[in-house]
Amino acid sequence: MEEIIEKANYCLNCKVKPCSNKGCPLHNEIPDFIKEVKEGNFSKAYEILCKTTVLQGVCGRICPHMKQCQGSCVRGIKGEPVAIGELEAFVFDKAMEEGNSLSKVWKEEIEKNKEVLGNKKVAIIGGGPAGLTLAAFLVKEGVKVTIYEKYNFLGGLLMYGIPEFRLDKKIVEKTIKNILDLGISVEYGKEFGKNLNLNELEEYDAIFLSFGANCSSKMGIEGENLKGVYGGNELLEYNTHPNYEGKTVVVAGGGNVAMDCARTIKRLGAKEVKVVYRRAREQMPAEDKEVEDAIKEGVEFLFQNNIVKILGNEKVEKLELIKTKLIQKEGDTRLSPVNVENSNYIIDTDYVVMALGASPAPFVKDLDLSLNKWGNVEVNSNYETSNPKIYAGGDLAGVRGTVAWAAYSGREAAKKIVEKLKEA
Ligand SMILES: Cc1cc2nc3c(=O)[nH]c(=O)nc-3n(C[C@H](O)[C@H](O)[C@H](O)COP(=O)(O)OP(=O)(O)OC[C@H]3O[C@@H](n4cnc5c(N)ncnc54)[C@H](O)[C@@H]3O)c2cc1C
Ligand code: SF4
Repeated sequence: MEEIIEKANYCLNCKVKPCSNKGCPLHNEIPDFIKEVKEGNFSKAYEILCKTTVLQGVCGRICPHMKQCQGSCVRGIKGEPVAIGELEAFVFDKAMEEGNSLSKVWKEEIEKNKEVLGNKKVAIIGGGPAGLTLAAFLVKEGVKVTIYEKYNFLGGLLMYGIPEFRLDKKIVEKTIKNILDLGISVEYGKEFGKNLNLNELEEYDAIFLSFGANCSSKMGIEGENLKGVYGGNELLEYNTHPNYEGKTVVVAGGGNVAMDCARTIKRLGAKEVKVVYRRAREQMPAEDKEVEDAIKEGVEFLFQNNIVKILGNEKVEKLELIKTKLIQKEGDTRLSPVNVENSNYIIDTDYVVMALGASPAPFVKDLDLSLNKWGNVEVNSNYETSNPKIYAGGDLAGVRGTVAWAAYSGREAAKKIVEKLKEA
């Protein structure tokens, strides 16, 4: 406890609050909640966080803090930033321990708002961070919500993407229970595009699509269809790992998915795991801490290397790589990799895992909604799709690929839906 208060006391309570205004996608009121922690008012700190987020326990643990709140902290200019994530997680854990909850914090508001919007109903398809956040903020506004979820559990990538060694699933379960206790209905085992379609949802005043985008992108190179080439997202979601004992595995990519695949595969017994990334370490989208942990666990990195083709007879046997150099292209914010001519070389490998990005399931093309050039469902600034009764958010709508951004889209979409419902 003393240690936490000491960490809170390190915060300068800056008036300009770059941590909140610039760093945190959700604009959590960071100095305000930390001030309450300093004074030991933990339940007040929780109430402050509940204004903007329902995922405190999760975001406190797995947000890329150095790229978000802590990366903008004034303390970080000359030394270590304030441990904002740790403080947020502490406040959530303490609230749960003391029997505090969203239902308690929002009780009066919910009762009052039900009088206005209590007869309105919204369907949410997909119960990951975006759908769960939207559900909570709609219930707060008095609206009735039902989540339709393909699995028999909620949480999405929090449950089956981010591995247990980074995010304790008990925290995710507590987070979900706290949200469901607000009075949210869930229809489990309902897979949109399979045993659920839009016609069945006509009774709802609005529909929010938040079923994610977890289909691994391909490189479009020779040999990609050989046995032993896997999509990283699918490996983690469906847990379809081959036996890695004594094998060499190459993981292509430089983001969270690549790091989680590499570390999971190493833990599952692979002899060697090599991450191939086109740019340099400084340009990796993964957080530095993830890279450091991966290195400590024995993962090797081949920076500034690109895969040219995958070689093998039916099954992966070798990889042709080429070195890259980084150049500044006009108009680009980060350095671009270009192949260094004649620097090709060959390495042996048993498996290749593609972790280069992901897109929505192919059935979105049949939904009669506009898609953007990456295949995400296109939304306007109100999170409306090309069908004004249907909204979308999170990864499905191409919202910047982190939990906090998915949650932000859910919270903001809830506001827009409420505005529309009030007009009707
Ligand atoms: C391996 C990995 C590691 C990551 N690590 C981090 C991290 O450390 N920090 C971070 O901030 N972000 C991380 N991310 C990104 C983050 O997890 C996502 O941006 C976020 O989960 C997106 O939330 P979402 O609600 O849009 O989608 P999802 O989390 O994908 O949730 C979608 C929900 O819809 C359900 N669903 C899917 N299809 C259907 C259907 N047809 N019908 C009904 N339901 C359906 C799913 O089961 C799921 O519950 C990671 C992603 C991956 C893949
Ligand atoms: S920028 Fe850092 S020191 Fe300033 S209020 Fe935010 S957390 Fe505290």
